Amino acid sequence: MGAQCKACGVPKTIGKTHVWRDGCIVDKASGRVALCIYEVYNHNTFVEEMGKQLGFSLDPIIYNASVHASRSVITDMLVPHPTLGKLAFSAPFYRMVEGLMCGIFKSIGTGCIDLCVHKKSEYARAYIDYPFNLIQCLAIVAGALQAVDGTRYTYRIVKSEDVTEVDFYPSSRKAEIEDVFERLSGAELTPRESSAAASFESCPKCGVPRELGELLSFDLPRGVIVKRQGGERVILGGIGSFNAMFRELERELGDSVDHISCGIEKESTKRNLVEAGLAGKAWGEGELRDYLALYGTGMLQKMEQDGEKLTLTMANVYVPSLVAGRLAGIWENWHQKECDNDFSVENNVLSMTVQPRT
Ligand SMILES: [Zn+2]
Repeated sequence: MGAQCKACGVPKTIGKTHVWRDGCIVDKASGRVALCIYEVYNHNTFVEEMGKQLGFSLDPIIYNASVHASRSVITDMLVPHPTLGKLAFSAPFYRMVEGLMCGIFKSIGTGCIDLCVHKKSEYARAYIDYPFNLIQCLAIVAGALQAVDGTRYTYRIVKSEDVTEVDFYPSSRKAEIEDVFERLSGAELTPRESSAAASFESCPKCGVPRELGELLSFDLPRGVIVKRQGGERVILGGIGSFNAMFRELERELGDSVDHISCGIEKESTKRNLVEAGLAGKAWGEGELRDYLALYGTGMLQKMEQDGEKLTLTMANVYVPSLVAGRLAGIWENWHQKECDNDFSVENNVLSMTVQPRT
């Protein structure tokens, strides 16, 4: 497969457009934090459990947040430099751009999404197979289409058998949607330079951390990424999407959202560590820093044990409650007991304490 790096197996498009720095997976062109490795189990459990505990479906919020994030991720990935960008978005190159987009979807593990018939700004049809989450895939397509022709799309599912067939049309709810989009664009997603650093070796061919190819196996034709150890499916999820989704949830429901989502993520993390054969795993500071940075969840700056209390400081954290939940899960799996934890965030720096539950 020409699309994957011969040395590490990671899709070439990832290494071309992204760099691992300061605990984040950063888009090279824009300098903004773009992706994180996220377990599909965690993602879907989060959506389901959060919906249950809040008493309403998260789908509309997730859809809007994902359309928005997809539009910026795809724009960034399609426009590595301005001249090519202009060419790519003009008529004769349009098919090529569609092909590129489908390749990008597969390389981030969304499943196999094929865009077929498309009349610019009027109509598109997509065939979706192996979706990691159908609503999210629909949002990703709508956002990508918007990145190309500037039109906001809505969808109609035509057939949902093995392969889901979906039509996309321009949305008629323009004013209302403009409002939401205005709100979603607010976040500052440029990571700060961190004094701590993860010790990655780069793949000599494509430049991504060598550990990435050791951690993940990419099935590019199906658009499926799994962990080599344990076979858990993951996506390279859009940080902008999670960040926007939490801002929307907090706007509606306040701070309680953070505690609920931290708890859900903690349980999923414990389950994943066991699935990956890491039950009871203890962590040194450097090892934990590398692990978190490889996933693109932020840069661990300090980890201090004071009696029974562990204090953690992490920079460049854009989805604080999920990262806090992940840390709490790592701690509980490590010590094999329940914890009390407390966290706060300022300027994307997460401060957290974890100790045995009293
Ligand atoms: Zn490589």
